[in-house]
Amino acid sequence: MSTRDFEGKEVVISYDATRCIHAGECVRGAPAVFDPEARPWIAPDRADGEQIAQVIRRCPTGALTLRFRDGRVAEMPDALATIALAVLIAAIGVYSGLGRVRPVLERPLHIVRRLHSGHVGDYVAWLLFGVAALGALFALT
Ligand code: SF4
Repeated sequence: MSTRDFEGKEVVISYDATRCIHAGECVRGAPAVFDPEARPWIAPDRADGEQIAQVIRRCPTGALTLRFRDGRVAEMPDALATIALAVLIAAIGVYSGLGRVRPVLERPLHIVRRLHSGHVGDYVAWLLFGVAALGALFALT
C-alpha cells in the first residue's frame, strides 16, 4: 500500500505516492503545509482545514485526500460540481427542448452532414476542430 496518512488535530491528509505526478499544486497552494524539503513533508496543522481542503481539490490526480476528524464532509470538488451541472443541463435540453431547437439546427446540421463523409478521418478532424474552438473560447475568457 502506497498511501500514507498525515494526522493533524483537525484533519487527516492521505497521500498516495503512486498517483502523484509532482505537478506542485499542493506546494504552491499551501507551502506551509506541503513542503517537499521537510520531514514529514505534509504538516496538517499548519493551516485551517477548509483552506487545506481547497488546495487538495486542485490536486489533478487525486493523490491527496482529506477527511475532517469531526466527521464533516469536505465540499464536493468544484470541477465535479461543474460537470454534474453541465450533464444536468444537457439532459434537460435533450429531453425537453430538442423538439423546439430542431428547426433552428436543421440547416447547420444539414451543412455538417453534407461535409461529413462518414470516414474515420472526419471524426478526427471534427474532434480537432471542436478542441481548437473550445481552446479559443477558453483563451478569450
Ligand atoms: S497536487 Fe497532487 S499530484 Fe500535484 S504534487 Fe501535490 S500531490 Fe502530487
